[in-house]
Amino acid sequence: MAPTSPKVFDYIVIGGGSGGSGAARRAAGWYGKKTLIVENKRSGGTCVNVGCVPKKMTYYFASVNEMLEKGKGYGYDIPDHIPFHFDEFKRKRDARIKTLNSIYERNWSKEGIELVHGRATFTEPKVIEVTMNDGGEKISYTAPHILIATGGYPLIPPNVEGAEHGITSDGFFDIEHLPKKVAIAGSGYIAVEFAGVLNAIGVEVHMFINGETILRKFDPMVQNTITKRYEDAGIVIHKNFKGGFKKIERLDGGTANPHPDKRLKLTGNNGDEFEFPEIIWAIGRAPEVEDLNLPVAGIETKKSGHIKVDEFQNTSVDGIYALGDVTGEAELTPVAIAAGRQLGNRLFGPPHLSSSKLSYDKIPTVVFSHPEVGTVGLTEPQAIEQYGKENIKVYTTKFTAMFYDFASPEEKAKNPTQYKLITAGPDEKVVGLHILGDGSGEMLQGFGVAVKMGATKKDFDNCVAIHPTSAEELVTLR
Ligand SMILES: Cc1cc2nc3c(=O)[nH]c(=O)nc-3n(C[C@H](O)[C@H](O)[C@H](O)COP(=O)(O)OP(=O)(O)OC[C@H]3O[C@@H](n4cnc5c(N)ncnc54)[C@H](O)[C@@H]3O)c2cc1C
Repeated sequence: MAPTSPKVFDYIVIGGGSGGSGAARRAAGWYGKKTLIVENKRSGGTCVNVGCVPKKMTYYFASVNEMLEKGKGYGYDIPDHIPFHFDEFKRKRDARIKTLNSIYERNWSKEGIELVHGRATFTEPKVIEVTMNDGGEKISYTAPHILIATGGYPLIPPNVEGAEHGITSDGFFDIEHLPKKVAIAGSGYIAVEFAGVLNAIGVEVHMFINGETILRKFDPMVQNTITKRYEDAGIVIHKNFKGGFKKIERLDGGTANPHPDKRLKLTGNNGDEFEFPEIIWAIGRAPEVEDLNLPVAGIETKKSGHIKVDEFQNTSVDGIYALGDVTGEAELTPVAIAAGRQLGNRLFGPPHLSSSKLSYDKIPTVVFSHPEVGTVGLTEPQAIEQYGKENIKVYTTKFTAMFYDFASPEEKAKNPTQYKLITAGPDEKVVGLHILGDGSGEMLQGFGVAVKMGATKKDFDNCVAIHPTSAEELVTLR
């Protein structure tokens, strides 16, 4: 039988995650382009299924437990160890995510986007072939514009014997019955968020980290305070665990992962041995490019495997673009969505949008740690490097939020709120803002707007404080 010619679209989007969805909806919904999304797993991608959304729901679950504890200080007669049902919460969380999957698909359909569930691979520079998830016949598609938004996947350390006995962030969301104790390898934001949540719901948490502090990409104030805060909250941090683990052995004889009866023996390269019911690898993510067959299309990648793009999301091949986690730039959902929308504007929008691109400068971001951390702009070391120590001014404050007025002195000491503002030049332009304390997640968005607009310290001072809040401290810094 003669091969059928590929089906033709205006725009093919590989990956129905944050970036792919944002890009496809702009092209189809705003500009009426005939658009195809190819998605091989659940619609919505990492954020909806195994990232931001279930993570934040779990954070709220843990916050309820923390609040019950804190309520005692206000005179509430709250018994110790109120039982909760994590398995019930997990089922509700799974159900909500299923609903979100459908909402994504409904929105795509409303905007005329065609969706196929399958795995895309390039067979020619502008042709992809999709292996359908339902086992149906492979179908080829072509378009003058093809976007790669295939995201990434969590790494399992390749040199650790038996590493597959542990779980990653994906497996974290499969946990139905909480283990009593958990080892977490890693010190980045995912490791820190999981550690905080598990600790808050009574799991004994051990973090194994390379250096002295967690969140090492953040400002030193954040690193030091959150590390101490976590230790004060009972999390055991195994610092300078440089050699990492050598071997993970499964002692219970089972294979299901995760499993309530799981028992693991962990052996470090330094000879230390531990027994844990679970280990979570939170050591980083790699780009999902394996099946794309990029060389066929001539698409260049970086040393890290991420797809090389310019500031307009162009790859090395004309008419093929990439954005989101697969490019390794600011791996955050709103970044992927915004890049997708800007790309749609540039490719299909009116002439005045033909140079649209996303600015990757001053992207605000929050860590849902306990307490939350927010950051936008440069850390102090970065500001010194960029402007010189003599040209920057740093304002800091440390206080106990009013919420803790009725807490014990120990509890107060354990719950500091700390803010830092970094300014540069004679007009004291704010180039970095770092906040740590309850409510930082919601606070940061507004300050992010100000910093992005180029606000100066004087602009901050000119804004009348909102009293009584913690945020007011940021407009009254001296
Ligand atoms: C635990 C965790 C917590 C996070 N928390 C936050 C947070 O609080 N805030 C935040 O902003 N970000 C958070 N992130 C990051 C955020 O999830 C990602 O930055 C975002 O999802 C990236 O979007 P994307 O479109 O690039 O990729 P993805 O959302 O990963 O989408 C890529 C899609 O492509 C599909 N795909 C891959 N290869 C193929 C192929 N060959 N054919 C067809 N389909 C394919 C995948 O199945 C996937 O659905 C978190 C991530 C994790 C892991």
